[in-house]
Amino acid sequence: MAPADTGIDLERVERETQRIGRELFDRVRHESAAFFRSERWTGQLLEWSMRHRDTRVQLFRFVDVLPALSDPEDVVRHLREYFEGRPDPFGGLMKMGLGVAGMGRLGARAAAGTLRKGVEQVARSFIAGTNAQEVLKVVEAFHRQGLGFTVDVLGEATLSESEADAYQQRYLELLEALTDQAARWPPVEQVDAAPWGPLPRVNVSVKLSALYSQLDPIDPETSTRAVMARLVPIVRLAKARGAHIHIDMEDYRLKDLTFHIFQRLAEDDEFKDYRHLGIVLQAYLKDAERDARRLIEWARERGTPVTVRLVKGAYWDFETVHARLEGWPVPVYERKWESDAAFERITRLFLQHHDAVDLAIASHNIRSIAHGMAVAQELGLPPRTVEYQVLYGMAAPLRRALAEMGQRVRVYTPYGQLIPGMAYLVRRLLENTSQESFLRQGFAEGESPEVLLRNPEAIGREAAAAAGSGLAAAPGPGLADGGWGAEPELGLPPYRNEPHADFARAEARAAMAAAFARVREQLGRRHPLLIGDEEVETEEAIVSVNPSMPSEIVGYAARARAEHVERAVAAAAKAFPAWRDTPAEKRVEILRRAAQIMRERRFELAALISLENGKPWREADGDVTEAIDFIEYYSRQALRLSRPIRMADLAGEINHYFYEPRGVAAVIAPWNFPLAILTGMSAAALATGNAVILKPAEQTPVIAAELARIYREAGVPGGVVNYLPGYGEDAGAALVAHPGVHIIAFTGSQAVGLGILQEAAQLRPGQRHIKQVITEMGGKNAIIIDDDADLDEAVAGVVESAFGYAGQKCSANSRAIVLARIYDQFLERLVEAARSLIIGPAWEPATFVGPVIEEEAQRRILNYIEQGHNEGRPVLIHEPPEAARRLGGYYVPVAIFADVPPTAVLACEEIFGPVLSVIRARDFDEALHVANDIDYKLTGGIYSRSPARIQRARREFRVGNFYINRKITGSLVGRQPFGGLGLSGTGFQAGGPDYLKQFVETRVVTENTLRRGFADEAAV
Ligand SMILES: Cc1cc2nc3c(=O)[nH]c(=O)nc-3n(C[C@H](O)[C@H](O)[C@H](O)COP(=O)(O)OP(=O)(O)OC[C@H]3O[C@@H](n4cnc5c(N)ncnc54)[C@H](O)[C@@H]3O)c2cc1C
Repeated sequence: MAPADTGIDLERVERETQRIGRELFDRVRHESAAFFRSERWTGQLLEWSMRHRDTRVQLFRFVDVLPALSDPEDVVRHLREYFEGRPDPFGGLMKMGLGVAGMGRLGARAAAGTLRKGVEQVARSFIAGTNAQEVLKVVEAFHRQGLGFTVDVLGEATLSESEADAYQQRYLELLEALTDQAARWPPVEQVDAAPWGPLPRVNVSVKLSALYSQLDPIDPETSTRAVMARLVPIVRLAKARGAHIHIDMEDYRLKDLTFHIFQRLAEDDEFKDYRHLGIVLQAYLKDAERDARRLIEWARERGTPVTVRLVKGAYWDFETVHARLEGWPVPVYERKWESDAAFERITRLFLQHHDAVDLAIASHNIRSIAHGMAVAQELGLPPRTVEYQVLYGMAAPLRRALAEMGQRVRVYTPYGQLIPGMAYLVRRLLENTSQESFLRQGFAEGESPEVLLRNPEAIGREAAAAAGSGLAAAPGPGLADGGWGAEPELGLPPYRNEPHADFARAEARAAMAAAFARVREQLGRRHPLLIGDEEVETEEAIVSVNPSMPSEIVGYAARARAEHVERAVAAAAKAFPAWRDTPAEKRVEILRRAAQIMRERRFELAALISLENGKPWREADGDVTEAIDFIEYYSRQALRLSRPIRMADLAGEINHYFYEPRGVAAVIAPWNFPLAILTGMSAAALATGNAVILKPAEQTPVIAAELARIYREAGVPGGVVNYLPGYGEDAGAALVAHPGVHIIAFTGSQAVGLGILQEAAQLRPGQRHIKQVITEMGGKNAIIIDDDADLDEAVAGVVESAFGYAGQKCSANSRAIVLARIYDQFLERLVEAARSLIIGPAWEPATFVGPVIEEEAQRRILNYIEQGHNEGRPVLIHEPPEAARRLGGYYVPVAIFADVPPTAVLACEEIFGPVLSVIRARDFDEALHVANDIDYKLTGGIYSRSPARIQRARREFRVGNFYINRKITGSLVGRQPFGGLGLSGTGFQAGGPDYLKQFVETRVVTENTLRRGFADEAAV
């Protein structure tokens, strides 16, 4: 490919850009008010939100929820909750709404009616209609005016295969209706032809996420197959009727997959020669230029050009926030001029290769557009080689001006129902009112053309010069340290979560697949006990099998008995004093080395977890990152605790309050987070100076053996960590009863936990201390679905929380408490979404629901499902597919029971499987009551868009971890310390600021510094 900008005189292009830009400004000047004051409601709303930055988000949230409210009193309640005491966006209406309590239903109805009409009007300025008939009229008018169009189908998020089928049907019907109609329109040269030939009149934009409910880049092949199955018939029809299909670009997670599917489609023999296919490139992505070059090369190889719509990108806020939350590199440029400059560079690149790519410049920025026109002119391209695209309802004067100048203009025209259209509408409102928006600066704030037409590269150069001279703005608080707060006094880098693997990236997928292969080669080894420095073989072994396919033996662990417990406690007791007296800094150094080893072997560890306990890829990866997090977080906490606290600073005496380890810690861990929880509990004990005996669950001894090895490799001395796999009833019981054990850190079932608490309370001969017991037990976790919830979010969140990792997390959702008004609607979508989940072996990347841990669990869950038929209405028993069953794994169906009474066994007992009870609640009070009226108090959540109810639930839904408008699983160390109240456990939450205190005891040393009447002032 020729080097960039070959044959382009950039100075001339700049001069022409300025000239064309000014011409465009001149042409739109007399209409500039129309950019923002299209009609009363929209204009007012946009202006108001630009004046009230702080309340802007409240306003858009209110607009978002409004269509979902059917009762006028609900509308008024929300109005009050969103705006009382705040600036009022709706003038008199607000007062009217707030006065409604006294005015009764009539007043509410009037206020709600006006508001709803207003918001509908706003929506209508960006959304062309609610059905195909309405949009047809709009696009026909466009054609008459010499404008092209592309129609976008707005709808709910596709959460199920039936919804994906419905989308496909809508696209097919739309194509038929549009092509029938368009064939009758008179020709309009300006949009019906390009220099290379006739152009389709009908142009439809498609989002791939609409066509497959399980679309996930973690398994590109499965996703590609499923999308193609629905996309190909659409494109086939389009080709038969001579229409253009354009694939929209969504968020970064789907970018590579979208390109992959597009290319697969366009390379297909059936479509290889079809020119009227298009894709989008987002210039705000740092990858964009590289992707553009690849696209050009690929298109040239294909032999027939494709269209590329060049945009800056619509998900800027999401991409930056999401990447920061995940700890991933931010994929978009973070300075506006960088996106603008990239847009121009890529414009030049595509136009230089116009033989391979038909370029469509989609922007409302006059500078970006003028630059495109200047480059086309510089390269001597025939008129109308480039297409200009704008969004419906935005920049109408600009599109008119472009058309008047003889350009080919296309309007992106969405249509659909209001509720599902809200996401689109809110994106447009945000875009129009964003501080960085060209439209806002140019047409609301009246910035001068000189400023608006400035070359982005020049802005960049100025910014760099200012940065050099120290004039550039410093990053805001929280950004410099990633929001975590620096901890210079600890001498360690600030704590932050270990980022999850991003399986949207091919490198991560390849690394995981390779790790599976490597780990599988090493399965079936023996894992002796580790007592002190000695590896101890036993005659009996615990056979660890792969729950996805039990014929695969993961390993043979030695089986500890009471006598081994005796030896291990002795070894730990012997090693304890030296470890206690090792400076905390040294202990932390060793532990952090263990974290580093985990980082280096993260994919092998994840693969081993997946094979030994049936976790799908992401879950297994999360297990490893959480283990690393525990070590890193507790390391910092331990350093803090190691500093004695000087109490009351008075002359004459010195009082030191300090923490000391307790002694020998028995760490009794569950199988469901076989690395994370075992590491968390043991790292807490080790960091604070205790010696540890690891007693992993008998189902997952091999990953535990790996942890013991990592600790030793990192430098934890012999005896300070001991590895004793065994069964709860012998090794576990012996450990709990042993008088030499000081701490029992247990995570597991309530029955075993309560038993441990009782046992540990017995004082045994030779025991001179009271055992400290930390228990994390079960949950029967509820999510309340309020009647104003965003169902796209609520259904997805419940599915993820209830069925992720086959419902085997203690935090899993097993009760959905749904308010009556939306009960049926929610249930229908939930059932279809759950029916679409992929059940299969955990090593397959597409698997969402893997097997359960063992045969006994499988039997127990099947019994509950059987019993559920007597207690509720079975609305879904989604059986594992035959292929999974043939593996002989411990698969169970995904089951949903509706109308379950809150007191039913199904709704009260912890099942630890993918079984969900859906409970109907009359109103919010009842929902809260049902949520709280249970023995367990571990996690809970709410999906609601009512600020007052969210606030109330925050206070009154009393669980250890409460989540608002998100899934209730996946807590992160240092961000969501985890643990329950009630019968869900004792002690402080894991991964939080107080957890380590349970592993230490406090002492106070007081020294009198007054001798013979004078004090030693220097003493500290
Ligand atoms: C016809 C059409 C089709 C479209 N299709 C898609 C699509 O399929 N996928 C998609 O993602 N978008 C799509 N868009 C949306 C488009 O991305 C936005 O409308 C566009 O980014 C606005 O850019 P602008 O040049 O009009 O405005 P400008 O005001 O010049 O640019 C605004 C854009 O700059 C970027 N930006 C803002 N702040 C910063 C910052 N601090 N640092 C770096 N960059 C910043 C953002 O992308 C923002 O949207 C489409 C737009 C049109 C007109």
